[in-house]
Amino acid sequence: MKGLTDKIRDILKKLEIKELPIPLEKVANLFSIKVIYYPSFPDHVSGIIINREGLLAIGINSDKPKVRQRFTLAHELGHFLLGHEIDEKIIEGIYDRPTDQEREANEFAAELLVPKDFLEKDIKEKLIVLKIPELARRYEVSEQAISVRLLETGLINQI
Ligand SMILES: [Zn+2]
Repeated sequence: MKGLTDKIRDILKKLEIKELPIPLEKVANLFSIKVIYYPSFPDHVSGIIINREGLLAIGINSDKPKVRQRFTLAHELGHFLLGHEIDEKIIEGIYDRPTDQEREANEFAAELLVPKDFLEKDIKEKLIVLKIPELARRYEVSEQAISVRLLETGLINQI
């Protein structure tokens, strides 16, 4: 999506976030969004967002792997920060057919977790030997997610 890289760049700059992995809870806090980890969601639910009279909260299924939880949190932040209409709540079920908003939130999550600028800098400076597992650990995302980011940003050609 065009403009998303710029949007995330602005958010990270405004929040003075320079560290990796991207501190998602800090982003949530700065937007006054409460994050709650639930161990007892049904297995097919990865998370939930709640908008109750302007009080915003994100619930994360804490039984899922850490990288999955981070993706869910980034995705939910996407719904808020992209200004999606949330009446009362959105339950994120893995079997749901993706709507445009869901796709948009997924793209937002991918960019927030692995901002293009950060990845580009890593590759240019070759701070770390660019192995997928190491990059995945550095950004705290799945190896699949980092591979996709390398492809979609076109940065893989620079390795
Ligand atoms: Zn969603």
